[in-house]
Amino acid sequence: MTKYRLHIDGDWVDPDSGEWLDTVDPYRGEPWARIARGNSEDVSRAVAAADRAMTVGPWASMSPSERGRIMRNIGDVIAKNAQRLAEIEVRDNGKLFAEMSGQLASISACWYYYAGLADKIQGASIPAEKQNVFAFTTREPIGVVAALTAWNSPLWFVAVKCAPALAAGCAVVVKPSEFASASTLEFAGLLKEAGLPDGVFNVVTGLGPEAGAALVDHADVAKITFTGSDTTGTRIYESAARTMKRVSLELGGKSPNIVFDDADLDAAAGGVVAGIFGAAGQMCSAGSRLLVHNSIKDGFTEKLLGLARGVRLGDPMDPHTNVGPIATPPQYQKVLDYIDIAKTEGARCVLGGRPAGGPGLTGGQFVEPTILVDVTNGMRIAQEEVFGPVLSVIGFEDEEEAVRIGNGVAYGLVAGVWTQSIGRALRMSKALRVGTVWVNTYRTYSYMVPFGGVKRSGIGREQGVEAVNEYLETKSVMISTDEDAPPNNFVMR
Ligand code: NAD
Repeated sequence: MTKYRLHIDGDWVDPDSGEWLDTVDPYRGEPWARIARGNSEDVSRAVAAADRAMTVGPWASMSPSERGRIMRNIGDVIAKNAQRLAEIEVRDNGKLFAEMSGQLASISACWYYYAGLADKIQGASIPAEKQNVFAFTTREPIGVVAALTAWNSPLWFVAVKCAPALAAGCAVVVKPSEFASASTLEFAGLLKEAGLPDGVFNVVTGLGPEAGAALVDHADVAKITFTGSDTTGTRIYESAARTMKRVSLELGGKSPNIVFDDADLDAAAGGVVAGIFGAAGQMCSAGSRLLVHNSIKDGFTEKLLGLARGVRLGDPMDPHTNVGPIATPPQYQKVLDYIDIAKTEGARCVLGGRPAGGPGLTGGQFVEPTILVDVTNGMRIAQEEVFGPVLSVIGFEDEEEAVRIGNGVAYGLVAGVWTQSIGRALRMSKALRVGTVWVNTYRTYSYMVPFGGVKRSGIGREQGVEAVNEYLETKSVMISTDEDAPPNNFVMR
């Protein structure tokens, strides 16, 4: 079994605890690697290394263009190692190789994108109304960044958090999910080849309440960027408040995929099925509530059933597989529990609803693609994030009701709208309280387009040009140009 040590200050080091955690291949149900169980001592070493790197190390004195050049090298080493990194991600989280290898191409491009931004971060000179004062702003790196990531797309999260942070001149300490840390460590191992100075990118693995909490609480961390559940996000937000850290939180969702009667129903059915059964539903953006116009509800549900019955479960490395296993045992149990809860609440299961078994599925935790009807928006199954292949079907009468139901949850991450009417698409986009609206498409991501949630889905935006602002502070400088100015006389000037 591969044994992964911590990556601190450019070195591989053993954890202070001397303890190791198994990392399990969810398809085979067997441990395949061991990761270090980091603790607060390891976190302190990593934060100190990051702090040195960005204040007195070569990263601090490097020109922004030189930093950008190194970040382009990082894009290159990712591209060169994409196949291997994608395979490691599949081993760790059970997602399809087809998806992870596609994602790796975007990850490399994302590093190039932020590399290009590194030397375009500028302040402003301000023609202030004051006489004899020259005023300007500078944009300074915010400080050491703690990046805490979820297991479902580890290197994507590293890219959308760390590339803008590095472009801003920060150094980072990453705490990947204990369920999928290997690809982040493999990535760290490539950074010397890219020319990244030691200490700029550190990885402390371990358990959330140990290594994760220690990182969040550390006095020398200035900014926390987190992707994960809203429960952990709330805890982190509370803890960050005590030390006034800046936070970005990318949390969960209960997203509506809304199908109108004027939609291209074949395209919509494909989008709905992929939007909930893709990645076995283990995506923050899962379209877990299908809102469908009452006039087409029965026919459209039949169409979905036809498509969903054809979904192939199996080995995530097999290009013919559509849906892989659920990544972790607790998550597997949670999905099955939610199906039971839904039935108790009065929902009717018209597809799936059980663990899936059979040839090729024996080692892993598979759940049948599940469709529930007779769901009302007040039920727990319509309100709470399942993070599994479970779709709830809810009817609506008109746009107003679709908006009311769509917005009628605590979350606000994404929404899908399927319609041929441009006017309706624009009205719905405006009315839905979410961070992203996808019209006649679903799960379409670009590192160039901002992504993030409102309400319980989080705070801040990742991706796009504006993400770099999450890692910068503005400093104002005001200089007197009047050499004969009287000294300050106790009155605000
Ligand atoms: P999680 O909250 O259990 O864990 C996320 C990270 O936080 C892990 O690294 C974990 O070790 C760490 N952590 C756990 N407890 C901690 C604590 N007390 N202090 C500090 N760190 C702690 O989430 P998960 O199960 O890994 O991921 C699934 C969740 O992530 C879902 O809710 C999903 O919707 C969400 N998610 C959101 C996005 C997005 O972009 N909005 C993307 C993917 C996943």
